[in-house]
Order: sequence, then C-alpha cells, then structure tokens
Amino acid sequence: MPRCQRKGAEFCHDGRFDSEYAHFRPVEWKQMNLHEYQAKQLFAGSGVPVPRGEVARSQAEARAAAGRLGGDRWVVKAQVHAGGRGKGGGVAVVEGLEALEAEAGRLLGSRLVTHQTGPEGLPVNALLIEEPLEIERELYVGMLVDRAAERLVVMASASGGMDIEEVAARDPAAILTEHVDPAAGLQPYQCRKLAFALGLGPQVRAFTAMLLALARLFQEKDLSLVEINPLVVTGGGELMALDAKINLDDNALYRQKALMEWRDPDQEEPRERAAREHGLNYVTLDGDIACMVNGAGLAMATMDLIKLHGGEPANFLDVGGGATAERVAEAFKLILSDTKVRAILVNIFGGIVRCDLIAEGVIQAVREVGVEVPVVVRLEGTNVEQGRALLEASGLNVITAEGLTDAAQKAVAAAAA
Ligand code: GDP
Ligand code: MN
Repeated sequence: MPRCQRKGAEFCHDGRFDSEYAHFRPVEWKQMNLHEYQAKQLFAGSGVPVPRGEVARSQAEARAAAGRLGGDRWVVKAQVHAGGRGKGGGVAVVEGLEALEAEAGRLLGSRLVTHQTGPEGLPVNALLIEEPLEIERELYVGMLVDRAAERLVVMASASGGMDIEEVAARDPAAILTEHVDPAAGLQPYQCRKLAFALGLGPQVRAFTAMLLALARLFQEKDLSLVEINPLVVTGGGELMALDAKINLDDNALYRQKALMEWRDPDQEEPRERAAREHGLNYVTLDGDIACMVNGAGLAMATMDLIKLHGGEPANFLDVGGGATAERVAEAFKLILSDTKVRAILVNIFGGIVRCDLIAEGVIQAVREVGVEVPVVVRLEGTNVEQGRALLEASGLNVITAEGLTDAAQKAVAAAAA
C-alpha cells in the first residue's frame, strides 16, 4: 500500500476509496494545507469555538502575545503542515514567561519531525500561543468528501486525541459516520444523533450548531478536509476545537483568492514546489523508478504497470499536453534531484506534443545535469521516428522500449540491476 499522500491528515481514510491509487489521483492531492492558526481563524469567523490565542514569529512576539492573553500558563504550538506534533515535541504547556521564551526559542527556526513529516521534518517559523484549557474529554470530528459515495461525510469518535489513527485501524466501529445529502445539506437530527452517540449531554445543542457551521464553512470555502482532533469538552463543560486542520481544494482556489494568500511555500516539499512553479504536476512517492509522462491518465497507467511488474514508482510526473523541450528539461532535472531514483522511465504519447521535441528536451537535460541512472524511453505518436533517431544519435545511455509493458519491464529490470 503506498504511503498516504494527504500529508498532515491525522486519519488516513484508505478504506473509503475504490482503488489503491485513489490517493494519487491529481484531484486528490491537489490540496492546499492551512496552518492550525489559519484554520482556527476560519473557525472563529464561522462560529466554531476555539481557545483564545495569537501567532508569534519571534521570542519577543511570543512574550507579548502571552502578556495579552494573561495568566501565567500557556500552550506553545509549532505551526507546521503536519499532525503528530504532540508526540513529536511540537506542543508544550509552559509556566511563566521565562519558560515560554525558552520554549519559543527552542522551536522557532528548528525543524519539527513527526510521524507525518518524514525524517527531514518541517521548518517551524511560527508558533501559536494559546490559553491553556482544562480538558475533560477528547473527541474527534472530521468532515471530508467521500468520493465513493459522492457526498460529504461527517465523522466523529469518542476516542479523540493523539491516537485516532490507531483507533481507526483497530476498531473502525469506533468512528461514527453521517453522509450529507447534497440537496438537503447536513441536517440537525444527524448532528444530534452523533452527539448522543458520543455521550454528550448538555453540549448537544452546541455540538449541533458547531457541525452545521463546519458544513457551511466547508461549502463556502471549497474545503476538501476538516479535522478537529481533539474536540474537547472543557472542565467547564464547554465544547472547544483544541486543534484544527483544513485542506483546500486546489481546483477551487481561483475563487478563494483570500485563502490563496495563506499558502506557505516553506512547508512544501522543495521538488513539489519547483514543479508547481514550472507548471508541472509532480508528486514524490517512495519507490526508485522515476516517471516522466504526458497526461495524468497515462501517468497513472504507467505507475500501475511499474507496480504490476514488481517495481515502485519514485514519483508521479505529468509534464502536460503541450510540453516544450524546456519544460521537459525542467521536469528531468526535477526527477534527477531525487537521490533515491535508480532508473527513469520516459513514457510520452505525442499527440499535441511532438516526439522529436521531447527527445530534444531529454537530451538537453541529460547534457546539462548529467545522468548516472539508466533511462528507458517509450515514444509513440507524432514524429516518433525523428524522436527515436535523435535519441540514438545522442550517444546517451538510453534504452528504447516499444509499448507500455516492454517499457515497464525494462525500467524495473534497470532499477534492479
Ligand atoms: P497534534 O499532535 O499535531 O495533533 O497537535 P494537537 O493540537 O492535537 O495537540 C496535541 C495534544 O496536546 C492534544 O491532544 C492535547 O492533549 C494537548 N493539548 C493541546 N492544547 C492543550 C491545552 O490547552 N491544554 C492541555 N491540557 N492540553 C493541551
Ligand atoms: Mn491533533
């Protein structure tokens, strides 16, 4: 099973999809992440209760924020696009301004490693300083698009907190779900049903109002995922979103200009960021066979065939329908910067794009950056003969392939050699 690409989702909903590769569909990963403090800002604006808090980007700002919040205990939370911060040392309750400043100094400028970040971690450039709460119960609430059911689904669990992934794996029945009728919208009775199942008493009304507000926010802001984990019942019996995770649907970002401003490039994987800047559709994966393909569908098929023949793709890369030699060269440099790549499979169908141009791009990139791993090339379509001739004349170590199966087999063999 490939690693879940919905980075930062606390709870990876593998079982909900119809195909192993559902995670890799472009629509699925074209999601922009928000920071917790940004998500909480949206919550606060739509009536979902959150603790009082402020963002700080320096020790001085942290101290000033704590002063404004008052009291002498605060929660310091590292703002990174990943969950698991609690266990990774990114969430601390501190007492006194000295301790607060020390904790801020320790976190700011560091890289936080959690089970969702990979060993290199993510840079901590901002902190959320919050008032501490007395926690009575930790619940889980999530909302996302259930692609199989073609509607929104609300999920809730009485076992919220830091181990929701384990709960979901061990005891799926502990996750309650309610699907939202797209015409009618989320209904109050559905919220009450969940509230009672969670064992809420005096909070049923507030819980219902909160879920309805979340559903409204989801629709208004074109979200693809919301998670509150934990949603707490405080010592005073209040409901409060202690954590907040929001993913936006990139396909709708054009009409969410204000949210687009919130993008934090520092949190993006450097290669994925470079790809976005060059208009390439690129996602890092765990395998060692790099793929360069035109068209998302062909890229999916290519990855499937690599797996079918016993290999693992190192990336998904769609250079697009109208790829130029320059774009191909950029794409090539991108996949070559990934040190785990042991073979490259170029699979291009020249419909709009001409195969000779693709060949030129490959040759240009290989000359510029040098390539030490075997390159398997399968070209088909417009000007295929010229393309193949260019590659053969280039004197580069290129293995030509005929057809998809041949290409995949040769790439798998080359990576294993
Ligand atoms: P995550 O680990 O990245 O999901 O970060 P969370 O925001 O969920 O925080 C992790 C844990 O820190 C929570 O499950 C809480 O148990 C704890 N925590 C966070 N804020 C507070 C707070 O205000 N008071 C107390 N007592 N615990 C908190
Ligand atoms: Mn959390």
